[in-house]
Amino acid sequence: MHKPAITSESVRMNYERYVVPSYARTIVFTRGKGSYVWDAEGKKYLDFGAGIAVNALGHAHPAMTKALEEQSKTLIHVSNLYYHPLHAKLAQRLVELTGPGKIFFCNSGAEANEALIKLARKFGSKDGKFEVITATQSFHGRTFGSMSATGQDKIKKDFEPMLEGFQHIPYNDLSAAEKAIGPKTAAILIEGIQGEGGVTPATPEYLLGLRKLCTEKKILLLMDAVQCGMFRTGMFMSYQRVLEGKNADFLPDGISMAKSLGGGFPIAAVWMREPYGDLLGPGTHGTTFGGTPLACAVALAVLDTIEKEKLADNIRRQGDRLQAELKKHIQGGAENITGVRGYGGMIGMVVRESAPALSKEIAAKGLLVVPAGDGILRLLPPLNVSDEEVEKALDILKSHL
Ligand SMILES: *Cc1c(COP(=O)(O)O)cnc(C)c1O
Repeated sequence: MHKPAITSESVRMNYERYVVPSYARTIVFTRGKGSYVWDAEGKKYLDFGAGIAVNALGHAHPAMTKALEEQSKTLIHVSNLYYHPLHAKLAQRLVELTGPGKIFFCNSGAEANEALIKLARKFGSKDGKFEVITATQSFHGRTFGSMSATGQDKIKKDFEPMLEGFQHIPYNDLSAAEKAIGPKTAAILIEGIQGEGGVTPATPEYLLGLRKLCTEKKILLLMDAVQCGMFRTGMFMSYQRVLEGKNADFLPDGISMAKSLGGGFPIAAVWMREPYGDLLGPGTHGTTFGGTPLACAVALAVLDTIEKEKLADNIRRQGDRLQAELKKHIQGGAENITGVRGYGGMIGMVVRESAPALSKEIAAKGLLVVPAGDGILRLLPPLNVSDEEVEKALDILKSHL
C-alpha cells in the first residue's frame, strides 16, 4: 500500500485536530544530527535553541544512542522499591559535582521544584514555617506548587487560587529579601540566571548576601538550576560561574536540575545539602519513574561525554565569542539589538522588535533561537557547538539584527 508522504501541512492539520493547543508551535521537524535539525520538507536549520537548553550534546549523539540501546536491552525500569547501581552512580556523580548532600531523582523541572518546596515545608514544619520567597520574573514550572512559586502573573491567569505560602520579591534586590523574611519563612528559592524571565544573571553580591541572610535567619537557600545548570554557563552550576574567583565555598541548601541532565531523555534531580538530604524519609515523597536505570544510564553517558570532550570549556569559549561579536555588532550600529548578556551557552539578546516575530524571521534564514521575557531572544546552543557553527549563527544574526 502506498503511504502518503509526511508534509508539514498534514502534521499541522493533525495537531489542530488532536493536540491540545497549549503551545504556539511553528516548524515541523522530523530529524536531527549534531547542531542541525531538518523539517518535513528537508530544510536544514542550525539549532541554537537545543530544545530549550535540553540537547546538551546536540541531536542523535552516538554516546546517547549507545547508552539507550545497551541499557534498554539490560533493564529499563524496576520501580523505586528496589536498588539499582546506576541510580547510585549518578547520585554520587551529582553530589561530587555539587557538594556534600543527597540526590532525589524525578522527571521534570517542575517536579524537581515540587521536591524543593516539599523540602522547605518539611524543614520548617516543626517551627510552623512554610513560606517560600521567590523572585518576580522567575519561572519554576507549570504544576500548582511550581506555578505558585513562579513570579509571573501571565502563567497563573485563570488558574487561581494559587497554592498558599509564596511571596515574590524583586530579583537581585538584597534589601527586599531582608524585609520579606518573616516568622513563617522557610526558604528563599531563586534561579542563578533567570531563563524564561529574560536571561538575567544573579549578581555575586546578591548570591553571597542571600547566603549570609539565609544562614542568619535559619532558612533554606534553594536554587532552580533547571535551565542554567549542568555546565551550560561553562561551569557545572551557574553560581560557580557568577562567583568565579570570589567565593569558592558558596553552596545553596538545595538545587533542582532537569532540562539538559539527560541530554533530551527526561530526567530531573534534586540535590539536598547535608544534613537536609535526610529530611524526606521513607513514605514522605516519591515518583514512579524517578531515576530509572535507562534514564540514569543516559545521564551518565551525557556527563561522561561532557567531561571527556571538555565541553564545559568549549561552551564557555563559544559563548564568550558569541557575546564579544554581538557586542561589536551593537557598537557598529546594529538596527535591532541593543544589548547582550549571560554566561557561556546561555545568552540573552535585548531586541527592539517583538521577540517571537524576530525569532520566526531568523528561523526562516535557517537559525533557531528562543524568545524569552519581554523583548529578549535567547541563544542556547548545544555544549559541543563548533567554531564553524558559531560563525554561521553570527552571520545570520548580524544580517538580521
Ligand atoms: C523549564 C524550567 C522549569 C520547568 O521545567 P519542566 O521540565 O518544563 O517542568 C523550571 N524552572 C526553570 C528555571 C526552567 O527553565
